[in-house]
Amino acid sequence: MSLKLATTVDEVREAVGRARQAGRKVGFVPTMGALHAGHLSLIRAARVDCSFVVVSLFVNPTQFALGEDYQKYPRTLDADVEACRREKVDLVFAPAADVMYTGEPLTTVHVAKLTDVLCGPHRPGHFDGVTTVVAKLFNIVQPDAAYFGRKDAQQAVVIKQMTAELFFPVEIVVCPTVREDDGLAMSSRNAHLSSDQRAQAASIYAALEAAAERVARGERNVATLVEQITADLEAAGRCKIDYVSIVDPETLQAVDRVTGPALVAVAVRIGSTRLIDNLLVDAGSVASNNGGAQPTGEAL
Ligand code: AMP
Repeated sequence: MSLKLATTVDEVREAVGRARQAGRKVGFVPTMGALHAGHLSLIRAARVDCSFVVVSLFVNPTQFALGEDYQKYPRTLDADVEACRREKVDLVFAPAADVMYTGEPLTTVHVAKLTDVLCGPHRPGHFDGVTTVVAKLFNIVQPDAAYFGRKDAQQAVVIKQMTAELFFPVEIVVCPTVREDDGLAMSSRNAHLSSDQRAQAASIYAALEAAAERVARGERNVATLVEQITADLEAAGRCKIDYVSIVDPETLQAVDRVTGPALVAVAVRIGSTRLIDNLLVDAGSVASNNGGAQPTGEAL
């Protein structure tokens, strides 16, 4: 079947309704477009599980705080639709902002506590924007399963919580982080890096891996691990570290010692580009989040 491009809620409902009537399982991959191999891995995971795959391309204004990069966020609609066609996506939903936000928005979906940590304090309103738009998209698409990347580990935990608490009948599938050859997590924002900054950005994954190795060699003290990651990041060049944190992978609350699975998460600004990454480590064994690796953090 050929790809259908929808821009309105009615078009999506009609196409998904027909697929459902035909007994097809509906898989959904929400994105902000500028598709890269990380997004494609989610689409492929959906393709394996589901016989009707929907991808949304929507740069959601409400998840950008004032002064963030909403205006300069890359927009590559034609190339994205072509990539979806190659991946045999059934339906692309690329709405204009006034389709998703009709009139003055009075309703917000807020997940507490899980959004007070890591990126939350650095991006006021960001997670409210994410959960509100994902709730809207879930209601529009009504998928059986939705696919998210572990690269945005906090987002995945927050979405899982929202889905469970609001009884959305949607299975949340979290897929491994896809990386460049030097380990940098693929991100639409990498396009903003100069070549020097791009080289420096590889230090993020290197610092996370070094921490995982220290854990594997028996280091359990979180303060020591955080200090070493910070030193590694700073040694690589000028950057502004928003946070280096080691948290429980399910509750996202800080831990003092690594006693089981733990999420090592960082957010770093190189120039004006903010990059995030994380690695799941385990006191028993090192859990790699590299692309292609088996997902080990099922809790995520
Ligand atoms: P975005 O377009 O950045 O909002 O991302 C859309 C989805 O793709 C989210 O679920 C992200 O976590 C996921 N994603 C982004 N980058 C990667 C990556 N490098 N590997 C795996 N998933 C990713």
